[in-house]
Amino acid sequence: MEKRKLVIIGSGPAAHTAAIYAARANLEPLLFEGFMSGPAGGQLMTTTEVENFPGFPKGISGPELMDNFREQSLRFDTKILTEDVEEVDLSKRPFVVKGATTTVEANALIIATGATAKRLDIEGAREGEFWQRGVTACAVCDGAAPIFRNRPLFVIGGGDSAVEEAVFLTKYGSKVYIVHRREELRASKIMAERALKHPKIEVLWNQVIEKISGDKVVQKVLLKNLKTGKTEEREAGGVFFAIGHQPNTPFLKGQLETNDVGYVVVKAGSMRTSVDGVFAAGDIQDPVYRQAITAAGTGCMAALDAERWLNEMGIE
Ligand code: NAP
Repeated sequence: MEKRKLVIIGSGPAAHTAAIYAARANLEPLLFEGFMSGPAGGQLMTTTEVENFPGFPKGISGPELMDNFREQSLRFDTKILTEDVEEVDLSKRPFVVKGATTTVEANALIIATGATAKRLDIEGAREGEFWQRGVTACAVCDGAAPIFRNRPLFVIGGGDSAVEEAVFLTKYGSKVYIVHRREELRASKIMAERALKHPKIEVLWNQVIEKISGDKVVQKVLLKNLKTGKTEEREAGGVFFAIGHQPNTPFLKGQLETNDVGYVVVKAGSMRTSVDGVFAAGDIQDPVYRQAITAAGTGCMAALDAERWLNEMGIE
């Protein structure tokens, strides 16, 4: 069985930044970038223009940015395996990482498998329908696109993300509706007030979107009031899911401490997890910021923490 000082699981900004730092520190990292688990490169692969990643004043497309990350990892001799990790055994040392076809032993492990924005299976919202043609799960990534300008926009959800995204979208849309299935927001009080007081935001209580329709892009939504059962069609320029993220942790099978919503817990001021020698970076441990740049920052921290930990263990 191949043995490595450091194995990195993931393929987004956190994983590749960790790989670049680790490789330059001669840790000869092996990186599992996944295969069936979604596009290698993570959430940026489904984003169009990235305008807020510093260093690219003219913007860069999400996939191109991730190609650059990957190329930089390879430049410093990271070995990349295009296969999914099916399980890990953190109960013994070295740890065992079992991929779809390759099993390796690792002294240290960086987990950066990210989180996936939850979506609803609404008619019109699927791939091949209006997904990415007016329907998205990331207002911050996609909200500035021309199709959303001066159009009524609909955000589904009632948590902090929904409020944050709705406020963000007021810069672009003619009006922003928060469509919430209950009559009370889950968002924190301060955030909820921000939405309720905003002149361009209206909350549609006890409502769900039943259908999204349009031509090339979204033009209409069909709303249903869950209390009265009444339906109503409204003009729409975009629909944004903000119903939470799901951290990609199933392959860990509960071996790392997670918080009450499933995010891996890291020790304050570090990327150390509940298991010595295992580090987490990126969205899998971040329910709050979830940006490419913050993911990259924590990837760097995880690599530096792993390097120090390996030194402490006398593994050079
Ligand atoms: P969340 O708090 O889990 O809220 C998800 C919202 O989506 C809830 O209102 C929920 O409705 C709704 N929802 C879930 N499934 C749904 C479905 N099938 N159909 C319709 N609605 C559905 O998720 P989040 O807003 O992404 O926040 C996640 C965490 O990040 C939270 O701890 C939050 O405080 C934090 N966060 C913080 C900030 C900030 O402080 N700036 C910003 C963003 C996120 P119900 O309320 O009816 O369950």
